[in-house]
Amino acid sequence: MRIIITGAGIGGLVAALSLRAAGFDEITLLESAPEIRPIGVGLNILPNAIRELDELGVAERLYEIAVSTGSLSYYNRFGSVIWTEPRGISAGYHWPQLSIHRGRLQGVLLETVRERLGADAIISDARVTEFESTPDGGVQVAVAHRVGGNTRMCADLLVGADGIHSAVRAVMYPREGGPRWNQLVVWRGTTWAKPFLDGRTMIIAGDRCRRAVVYPMSTPIAPGAPVLTNWAVARRAEEGQIPNRADWNRAVEPERFLANFADLAFGWLDVPGLIRSADQALEYPMVDRDPLPRWACGRATLLGDAAHAMNPMGSNGATQSIVDGRVLAKALAGHRDLNDALLIYEAERRPAMTALQETNRRMGPEVIIDLADERAPGGFDLIEQVIPVVELAEISQSYADLGAGDPHTVNTRPSFSVTPVTAAGGGQV
Ligand SMILES: Cc1cc2nc3c(=O)[nH]c(=O)nc-3n(C[C@H](O)[C@H](O)[C@H](O)COP(=O)(O)OP(=O)(O)OC[C@H]3O[C@@H](n4cnc5c(N)ncnc54)[C@H](O)[C@@H]3O)c2cc1C
Repeated sequence: MRIIITGAGIGGLVAALSLRAAGFDEITLLESAPEIRPIGVGLNILPNAIRELDELGVAERLYEIAVSTGSLSYYNRFGSVIWTEPRGISAGYHWPQLSIHRGRLQGVLLETVRERLGADAIISDARVTEFESTPDGGVQVAVAHRVGGNTRMCADLLVGADGIHSAVRAVMYPREGGPRWNQLVVWRGTTWAKPFLDGRTMIIAGDRCRRAVVYPMSTPIAPGAPVLTNWAVARRAEEGQIPNRADWNRAVEPERFLANFADLAFGWLDVPGLIRSADQALEYPMVDRDPLPRWACGRATLLGDAAHAMNPMGSNGATQSIVDGRVLAKALAGHRDLNDALLIYEAERRPAMTALQETNRRMGPEVIIDLADERAPGGFDLIEQVIPVVELAEISQSYADLGAGDPHTVNTRPSFSVTPVTAAGGGQV
C-alpha cells in the first residue's frame, strides 16, 4: 500500500515509524519546509506516548536528552503551593513523563525515520495544496515546491499530519476558516538557568488572568550547573489586540510583556529573571480547532493537530499525536478493507480527543489555579481551608482518565504493536 503522510512534525514522523514497524514499506513524507530545522521550545510527553516510543525502539535515545519529570506542582501568584502530584515513574507508570526540547525530539525521530525508511522517504520543500479521489479508489495529491514548480503524486492513502493549519483538513472542510482564539496570548522561550526545586519538577503558577509554566529539560553536568529551562507565560489579550496567525516562531522583545509577570519571583524561582535571560521570546496566540464530526474522507484521514488541535493544557497535544500514529498503523495492519481500518482508527481516537479538546477549552487541569484565585484572591495559609484535597485530587484524576492516561490503563492495556503485514494482506494484532 502506498501511503503519503503530509507533514514531518512529531505526529507525521511517529506515524511513519509506526506504519513501517507494522510492515508498510511504501511511505513518503511530504514536508512543506525547505529544510527541517530543530525549532520550537519545550514539550512534556506523557507516559502513554513514551510507551509507544519505547515499543518503537526510540525511547532509549530520548532518555539521554530529556528530564524524567518527577512531579507537577501548581502555585498561586504568591508562590504558595496549591497542589502537587507525582508524575511518570513516580506516579506508578512503567514509563516516564519526559520534559524535552521539541527540536531534540524531532531530531531523534527524523534520524530514525531516515535510518529505517531511507533518506528519500522525506521530501522537503513539498507543500500539499489539495487532494482528490481517483477513479481507481486511490488518492491524488497536488504538491507545490518553491524550487521546481508543482507536481502530483498518487497513493492508496493520504494521512494529513500537517498541523493546525492543515491543508488536508481544509480540503475536507473548506468552509471551516481559521483556528479559534481564546483571547490568551502566550510567550515562550528557553533559558539556561540554575536548577530549581529538585530539578525534576514542572510548575504552573498564576491566577485567573495570568499563567506561568516552567520546567527543566536537561540535567546539570555538575552540581548546580545551569540547565535548559523551558518557560511559557500567558495572559488575557488587551482590549482590541488582534492576534497574529498562529505562528510558533514569531520573535518579540521581552519588554513587550515582561511587566505582566514581574511579581512571579518567588525566591526559589524567578520567572521574570528567566524571561530576561532568554535568548529569544516567541509570541503565540492560544488557539485550537473545533472537534470534527469525521476525520476520514475517501482515502484520506487526519492525525495530530490536523485532527484535534487543542489548547496547550495538560501536555496532551504532541502526546496524543504520537498515540494516533500507533493506533492508525494497528488498524491498517489488522483490516484488509482500508475504509474499515480508517473507521476503526477514528472510533478509537476521535471521541477521546473531542473530550480532551473540550476540557482544554475550560483550562483542563489548570482550572485548579482559577479555583484557588477565585476562593482566595489574597492568598491562603492552608490550601485545605480553601479547596478540599479531595476536590483537587478529583480534578487531576478525571483529567488523566480523559485521554486514557491513568497509570493502570497505560501499564496494562494491550500493545498497539502488530506483527508486520505481508504482501498477502493484513498483519496480526
Ligand atoms: C504553548 C504550547 C505548549 C505546548 N506544550 C505541549 C506539551 O507540553 N506536551 C504536548 O504533548 N504538546 C504540547 N503542545 C502541543 C504540541 O506542540 C502539538 O500538539 C504538536 O506539536 C502537534 O504535532 P503535529 O505533528 O500534529 O503538528 P506540527 O508539529 O504542527 O507539524 C506539522 C508539520 O506539517 C508541516 N506542514 C504544514 N502544512 C503543510 C503542507 N500543506 N504540506 C506539507 N507539510 C506541511 C509543518 O511544516 C510541520 O512540520 C504545546 C503547544 C503549544 C502552542
